[in-house]
Amino acid sequence: MSQARSAGPEAGKGPRRSTYDPGVEEIGRLRNLGIVAHIDAGKTTLSERILLETGVIRHAGEVHEGSTVLDWMPEERRRGISITAAVTTVKWRGARIHLIDTPGHVDFTVEVERSLRVLDGAVLVISALAGVQAQSETVWRQARRHRIPGLVFVNQCDRQGADFLRAVADLRERLGMEALPIALPVGEGPGLRGVVDLLTRRAFLREDGGRDLVECPVPEEVALEVELLRGELIEALAERDDGILGALVEERDPSSEDLRRALRKRTLEGSLTPVLCGSALLDLGVQALLDGVVDFLPSPLERGPVEGQLPGGGAEQRAPDPDAPTCALAFKLLRTRREELTLVRLYAGGLRAGDELINPRNGAREQVRAIYAVHADSLEPLAAARCGEIVALAGCRATGTGDTLCAPGSEIALEGLALPRPVVSQVIEPQRDEDRGALGEALAAFEREDPTLELSEDPDTGQWVVSGMGELHLDVLARRLEEEFGLSARWGRPKVTYREAPLAAARGESRIERQLGAEAGWAEARVRLEPDESVEGLALERAVAASGQERLWAAALEALEREGRAGPRTGNPLGRARVVLEYLAVGRGAGEEAGEPSGAHGQETSDEGEFLAGEAARVALRDALRRSRLELREPLMALEIDLPAEASPQVLASLGSLRADVREVRSEGSRCTVRAAAPLAALFGYATRLRSITQGRAVLDLMPSGSRPVADRELAELGLE
Ligand code: GDP
Ligand code: MG
Repeated sequence: MSQARSAGPEAGKGPRRSTYDPGVEEIGRLRNLGIVAHIDAGKTTLSERILLETGVIRHAGEVHEGSTVLDWMPEERRRGISITAAVTTVKWRGARIHLIDTPGHVDFTVEVERSLRVLDGAVLVISALAGVQAQSETVWRQARRHRIPGLVFVNQCDRQGADFLRAVADLRERLGMEALPIALPVGEGPGLRGVVDLLTRRAFLREDGGRDLVECPVPEEVALEVELLRGELIEALAERDDGILGALVEERDPSSEDLRRALRKRTLEGSLTPVLCGSALLDLGVQALLDGVVDFLPSPLERGPVEGQLPGGGAEQRAPDPDAPTCALAFKLLRTRREELTLVRLYAGGLRAGDELINPRNGAREQVRAIYAVHADSLEPLAAARCGEIVALAGCRATGTGDTLCAPGSEIALEGLALPRPVVSQVIEPQRDEDRGALGEALAAFEREDPTLELSEDPDTGQWVVSGMGELHLDVLARRLEEEFGLSARWGRPKVTYREAPLAAARGESRIERQLGAEAGWAEARVRLEPDESVEGLALERAVAASGQERLWAAALEALEREGRAGPRTGNPLGRARVVLEYLAVGRGAGEEAGEPSGAHGQETSDEGEFLAGEAARVALRDALRRSRLELREPLMALEIDLPAEASPQVLASLGSLRADVREVRSEGSRCTVRAAAPLAALFGYATRLRSITQGRAVLDLMPSGSRPVADRELAELGLE
């Protein structure tokens, strides 16, 4: 592959240099939009059409030809799936839309999660054939959790068997969504000709063979249905809007402007969700969808303020005000051939190239070397950016995913990202011994870029272990090591990541003294370990740090995180646990009388101080672990299998042998849907087995679904004790 080594977006492609510096009205015309869906619903195709419609590209790349603009990683093109969320900017009717294409595969849910964290609105794409599928359900719930208003695009209306209204019913039934059709397909199925806008009663049809859509009177064949659905739409709005109700009472037809305004209000508050329809492949309904994004989804101003923790304790809000002190959330790292970039969402204030920002987590001062607008695989340098924007920053080396960047003197820490914890791990070794250093560096780079990837060293064998979200996730890592770094490695068999979970709270303390070079130093730490069922992994917290000691505390937290990757019982990472670093002091000299903690000595930024802080924290955690009781837990997966009804007896029998818990069997015509939960350990290779049982006619979906304790008697059986 000619560009196999181009690892990412290319800085400075194209000569443009924008002097763009938006004011408040500009921010009101901004839409930060995420497109979410089940795999194969058509997200990538739709995003591509949007680029075409908005004039960003001239020719749509076809997904199956491996040439789409958004799926720019070679690995994505080869597999025809989207792995990293690509950001791009388009213009439509005077609005600017930051568009994020998110991958549908469960192994990459972190991409969806971090996109949702920084977006203001979502478009859920579902297929008119398949309706609401497992992954669409998950992503919609995620969007709800972040209180993101949404639209639905029912795609693939051109396919045999498409049924728009059944899909709408499915949205209501399975998602509990107040789904409200605002469009209707004309000639649904292979004869799809166009779409009717129910608000305005305007039909846009493609006349025989032509490309362009022509505005026409509503065709006879759908006239009745259009009136029926429009009536339902008006009724639903009248229930919640006095203006519309008034029109109904006076037997007036409300104007389409009034309907749009009422619908916008209800969509923003999340009580109604407009549903559009069309075919991304045939480019039908895409313009109406763009109109919908502008008309019904919020600007950053309408999303309102965000809340964060102040360094001295207490919470404060930051409003989307360009004149307020700058505050931005780093949600993703991008590696280009030249540099590492930090993708941020600006929540308040503005930013110019050259500005200095503070990372309150570790006290680092970051100098913003450059600001870029990201367009999939190219970057456009910007002189400035304002709140509401999503941009890439160069120069923020000490900032990781989930960190906040702030104007000096106005530090605040926004809520980070809720990240899923790895469930599968594999041993990895360099193919050739001399590659060991390079492999270690490459893995560290991937680990930094992808917070759901964890690298650890087996304390017994010295082997590296890489953990991730599933077999596909690690498989993609293997390919990227080869394609981007030219490194080939030997991989062990995939293994489930068990976790050691504390059953009782415990405190741990430490005092260490070390001779470091010519000088002696000491450090003390105290931690509290407690069970926490709200996280599968390890949550870390700290008491408020004295000012100027951020680096010491950050070093201690980092050491705790590392230490938590290998529990004392079986060497598996800690889980369902919270560790609070309650106290930390570092000083010079030996013995008690060495006195003053380092803050007073100004030793806080030295490497020795950080080393001592880390050591003290680790010893304190080990002490707490000794005092607690730990149980071993294994990850569970939720399964959804869609299969031909006649194969269900064999499939149910196969589930019986998986230690699976079958929760629902639903038949509809000749198809059957089975929902179950099973330990991940039992599921390796199950996809292949299912394929042979059903001659490839079943569709299997897997999603992480918490964990369960492993009984002591099972430990030996699983080779854990
Ligand atoms: P994603 O996984 O959601 O990104 O889905 P893709 O955009 O990769 O599409 C999956 C497959 O469905 C591709 O082969 C597309 O060509 C096809 N596809 C997408 N949208 C449509 C549509 O509206 N109609 C038809 N017939 N096929 C579509
Ligand atoms: Mg895709």
